[in-house]
Amino acid sequence: MSHRYLFVGPPGVGKGTQADLVASEFDIPHISTGAMLREHVAAGTQLGQKAEVFMEAGDLVPDTLVVAMLAERIGCDDAREGFILDGFPRNIPQAEALDAMSVQLDRVVALSVSDEEVLRRITGRRSCANGHVYHVTDNPPQVEGVCDVDGLSLFQRSDDTEEVVANRLLVFRASTAPLLEYYAAIVTYVDGLGSVEEVRSRVVQVLGS
Ligand code: AMP
Repeated sequence: MSHRYLFVGPPGVGKGTQADLVASEFDIPHISTGAMLREHVAAGTQLGQKAEVFMEAGDLVPDTLVVAMLAERIGCDDAREGFILDGFPRNIPQAEALDAMSVQLDRVVALSVSDEEVLRRITGRRSCANGHVYHVTDNPPQVEGVCDVDGLSLFQRSDDTEEVVANRLLVFRASTAPLLEYYAAIVTYVDGLGSVEEVRSRVVQVLGS
């Protein structure tokens, strides 16, 4: 059985956290276009320079840029047996681009929580430069402000402020939510409320069945 999965949901729903856990469970890569774009921005590449203005505003980076980046990543050897896509496709044209690459998804996991919970989670989210993610109360690091894994200091993503999150939610509803219809035949809805472990076991149950 192949493991080609897509995790969809509003910002802050826990896609990245869950994708990380499930990816290690199935020994497949977690492919996050958001994380890849943040690396480009941090490294100051041409792509990063083009993407940054859209990301800072909470808007989508133009499809042509993201599709090319994703196509290259998905063609890597470690993605042959499967992968978890987190944050791509983000709209219908990107889903069509994935189809055009002849990539067939096995399951789409749609995670959901209320807008109030999204805001609570995102404003409490802290990350290190290597992309390890914490929450100030739900999943605090052992030492405040310091990453458990690599000792780097933790910061708040510049697009995790209340006003940018409001726009990201609008963008999710307008551009990303229609994917749930596009993938209707293979979507399973999973309640994203609860502890990381509770949600993980729900997701694994869906993918293991
Ligand atoms: P994320 O880490 O998934 O929340 O993504 C952070 C930001 O990166 C988004 O708000 C977008 O600006 C950009 N981004 C990530 N994935 C995509 C995508 N598939 N298409 C367009 N923009 C994206």
